[in-house]
Amino acid sequence: METVKIDLNKETDDSYDIFIDSFLFDGLADELKRKPAANSYAVITDSNVGKIYGKKLLKNLQDDEINSHLISFSAGEKSKSRKTKERIEDEMLRLGLGRGTCIIALGGGVVGDLAGFVAATYMRGIPYIQVPTTLLAMADSSIGGKVAVDTPHAKNSVGSFHQPKKVVIDINFLKTLPKKEIANGLAEIIKHALIKDKDFFHFLEKNIDGILKCDLEALKQAIKRSCEIKADIVAEDEKEKGLRKILNYGHTIGHAIESALKYGISHGEAVAVGMCCAAKLAAKKGFLDEGSVIRQNNLLDHAGLPHKLSHHKLKPKIILERIKYDKKIINGRINFVLLNSIGNAFVSDDVTLEDIKKILEEQ
Ligand code: ADP
Ligand code: ZN
Repeated sequence: METVKIDLNKETDDSYDIFIDSFLFDGLADELKRKPAANSYAVITDSNVGKIYGKKLLKNLQDDEINSHLISFSAGEKSKSRKTKERIEDEMLRLGLGRGTCIIALGGGVVGDLAGFVAATYMRGIPYIQVPTTLLAMADSSIGGKVAVDTPHAKNSVGSFHQPKKVVIDINFLKTLPKKEIANGLAEIIKHALIKDKDFFHFLEKNIDGILKCDLEALKQAIKRSCEIKADIVAEDEKEKGLRKILNYGHTIGHAIESALKYGISHGEAVAVGMCCAAKLAAKKGFLDEGSVIRQNNLLDHAGLPHKLSHHKLKPKIILERIKYDKKIINGRINFVLLNSIGNAFVSDDVTLEDIKKILEEQ
């Protein structure tokens, strides 16, 4: 037998920077003129962000004589589909955009995930820049390179890992963001503090009122620390083989609630309820003290996030059914993220469906 080895064991450097400030958006076109990332740009955005910011970015790019196009789709999670991906790709092909194109993902998590996934497969992969416009995308989803679309089967069920070339966070975008989207993003920021940094948790306790009033300095600090925590975890475990799993704190139950309610609840609200259940479970198992559970829940409360599904009628059995479909179940046991103190999370393989059922029944 003849053997030919394909030697692909080479080092790649996908490192990138996250820039955080006010007024970065206004300078983006000039920055790309000075330091081009490609020879043409496709700005992908949704209908809301397109109206407020997309047209302006396109004008700035074209004023700088940069070859650029604006592609927009209807706002909302429903658009995060294979169908929209296909439409965007067809439009890019029709425009004759080749491998020398860079995508600018301008919008919230929906835009980032979808545009990032287009970038991952278009012409077998082209570069993209994340320009997140929601708090959730700034503090969480625009970092880490997880890109995907939803299918009728499950959220984010078809996707890839594709890191952006850079992330440009302009805090000023938050001035036009609806208030409920601020709470949505805060759930992930609080999660980052809970799993990794007790000082940051304390900062959030002290500054939550300012953040809710859109105090840009407090928001900037919260976003920066949130990005650092996520960046550290992703740098250590890009493909979620181990450590990255702690980012799923509150998400096993959270995802199940979202899916059982057919996404009639925001991601942040569902994750907040998930974190409350997880904290209760950790206390019950003797890992976490009651005082910490109360502190966690108080901060969520302050942020306008729920502890319970009080106004939604959901039977624990239905949530459990959804968890059973969760990809994190191995040999009947669940990889479940618990806290042993504020700022310290670990993945437990000791949690059973029965444990979760009891917690849900106590809700
Ligand atoms: P997420 O980032 O939570 O995944 P989406 O991408 O669905 O959320 O965005 C939430 C909603 O907010 C969408 O309707 C989107 O069009 C809108 N949106 C996003 N960014 C802004 C902004 N800066 N100002 C106003 N509306 C925005
Ligand atoms: Zn999340």
